[in-house]
Amino acid sequence: MTANSGTTVLIVAAGKGSRAGEGTPKQYRIIGGRSVLAHAIDAFLAHPAIDEIQVVIGEGQGWLYHYAIGERSLPPPVIGGATRRASVLAGLEAIHGTKVLIHDAARPFVTVGVIDRLIDALNMHQGAVPVLPLVDTIALGGAQLGDTVDRSSLVRVQTPQAFVTAAIRDAHARWSDAVEATDDAQVFRAGGGNVAMVDGDPALEKLTYETDFAIAARRLHAGMISRTGMGFDVHAFGGEGPVWLGGVAVPHHRGLAGHSDADVALHALTDALLGAAALGDIGDHFPPSDPRWKGAPSRLFMEHAAALIAAQGGIIDHLDLTLICETPRIGPYRDSIRANIGAILRLPLARISVKATTTERLGFTGRAEGIAAQAVATIRMKDFE
Ligand code: MG
Repeated sequence: MTANSGTTVLIVAAGKGSRAGEGTPKQYRIIGGRSVLAHAIDAFLAHPAIDEIQVVIGEGQGWLYHYAIGERSLPPPVIGGATRRASVLAGLEAIHGTKVLIHDAARPFVTVGVIDRLIDALNMHQGAVPVLPLVDTIALGGAQLGDTVDRSSLVRVQTPQAFVTAAIRDAHARWSDAVEATDDAQVFRAGGGNVAMVDGDPALEKLTYETDFAIAARRLHAGMISRTGMGFDVHAFGGEGPVWLGGVAVPHHRGLAGHSDADVALHALTDALLGAAALGDIGDHFPPSDPRWKGAPSRLFMEHAAALIAAQGGIIDHLDLTLICETPRIGPYRDSIRANIGAILRLPLARISVKATTTERLGFTGRAEGIAAQAVATIRMKDFE
């Protein structure tokens, strides 16, 4: 986008809180194969009216952020401040849109309808927020239950909150730092602005407690189906050792011949993953004719296949690998091969199986001319039909 035009989404992801129980801040936790933050980003990326997405992260969260957004192409993140408002201010300074939607990363399920309604409202108003009615009885708390409050005059305010950028910058500049605002609409109103209300969406609920994550994951998984892919690969011995198997250097007097590092195990696994996702084969993605892959570590191929699955919201449920060879002996390296595959794909060991067999001295593997590998990948992906 050009400077000072269009609509920017400012996602505040600087929270360090892990109230939901796990050590990782909640915006970086994975549900349905994607980080909470990536769910929100993808919803905005898919909306044609959004021109720029700027994320604000906390100090020291750079690596969490890069892992969370994967291959998505976004401007570098802005580092936030000690409070939510300080983070919003830092973000507002970096953006280019004349309109801005300020969003909390802990609300991953942004709907097209809410974005449409907010952008629409900004044609008439300087600020707009999504709201929902209250359904429970609302009463004053204390030592004992207090008076019931008339809920018909109350609303629950969600994010994203939409503003004319210059107007919200101005409101933030006038807000006293002595008070921490709970949201940007509060700051905007205190600055004299009027905030319109549009219909919110229950899907936009903030993920706060552990049960919120479980419910969100169940909802995402409900629309997924299980898929299986098979991979097979062979490399002949040639040149000097070691033999690379599953990213582990297995000592041997001969290595395997091939364009890359000839890691027959990772090639079979890559093809199994691509097969399960129906995304072609390893040769389509990494042509042997391409000089870039000469001597390349094959973990790149498997990581790429896994990233393609993750980009579609998929989950790798299980991998089963069988190595077929007479030599070298796989047994002593089986555990480290398994651990390395798990480390590359960030999968628990229980989801990875590594087996080895010989062919009783029959055939090319039996004559110790090379190594074959078979792999089966079980994944879950959204049912697109
Ligand atoms: Mg190969």
